[in-house]
Amino acid sequence: MKKLGIIGWPLGHSISPAFQQAALDHCGIKARYHAYEVRPAELPAFMARVRSEGWLGLNVTVPHKEAVASLVDELSPEARAIGAVNTVVNQGSRLIGHNTDASGFRESLLAEAGFDPAGRHAVLLGAGGAGRAVAFTLLSMGVGAITICNRHQERAEALADHLRRHSHSAAMETVPWGSGELEAKLEGCDLLVNATSVGLHPGETPLPGHLLPPQALVYDLIYSPPVTRFLAEAQQRGARTLNGLAMLIYQGAAAFELWAGQLAPLGVMRAAAEAALRSKT
Ligand code: NDP
Repeated sequence: MKKLGIIGWPLGHSISPAFQQAALDHCGIKARYHAYEVRPAELPAFMARVRSEGWLGLNVTVPHKEAVASLVDELSPEARAIGAVNTVVNQGSRLIGHNTDASGFRESLLAEAGFDPAGRHAVLLGAGGAGRAVAFTLLSMGVGAITICNRHQERAEALADHLRRHSHSAAMETVPWGSGELEAKLEGCDLLVNATSVGLHPGETPLPGHLLPPQALVYDLIYSPPVTRFLAEAQQRGARTLNGLAMLIYQGAAAFELWAGQLAPLGVMRAAAEAALRSKT
């Protein structure tokens, strides 16, 4: 039986084992996918084990996405440009780092929301691991302009500098968290993405409701709860909304395809993810 899994610290929230195992079983692939709580200090030894025990690969989540990038043998172009790894493939004892958050976000926008960001104006809240993948993806899809806003603005500026070095030509700017400049940018934007972790706890939201743009697609990467206060208030303002479940499924499907070398059973994965989320509440 081959091994697969997700590593993070802590990991209590992950529903990846439920929908990845469902996909493996559905396709008759003899592998077990488990969640592994790995402390940062244990990470190098764990990666050595993945290599020596011939695992198929891994998913990687907070806080290891950046650290794993320096522990693999090779990075995909997307993982290199983003500076973070969420999927590892073990190819004959060579560990290859990928970033399927990027393709997951892209597919969720196109296939789930029918939204093409080419030439449009996006406002991105958050510049952590997920924010980096979102910004990179929007730029690679030809977004016209992107405004990045992060609580610690230096992190937003570092992200903008990194993306400029990768020669993306779209207009890119950062604005201070909670500022009037942000309010002005929200008024005319086409897409607003919450890539902060604000909203995971009931009642919290990254923006006051009256600032939410009714004309925009309002996207929260959080999927549990399925309707955050951010999304509920955006709906009240008349905006179209999307939560993070589609991105989670598409990033997982892309990872499955890298490990298994075959198309992922998207419907099976989504049904298993929804069942796992229902059983959490
Ligand atoms: P990180 O820890 O890398 O980044 C956290 C982000 O949240 C930073 O921008 C941080 O800002 C911001 N933040 C945290 N607390 C606050 C606060 N009180 N006020 C304002 N900003 C705050 O996490 P990730 O980027 O990996 O994840 C971010 C979110 O995206 C999570 O909710 C996660 O569940 C979700 N996600 C969803 C995925 C999906 O497939 N749907 C995939 C990956 C992530 P600062 O830099 O100032 O600390």
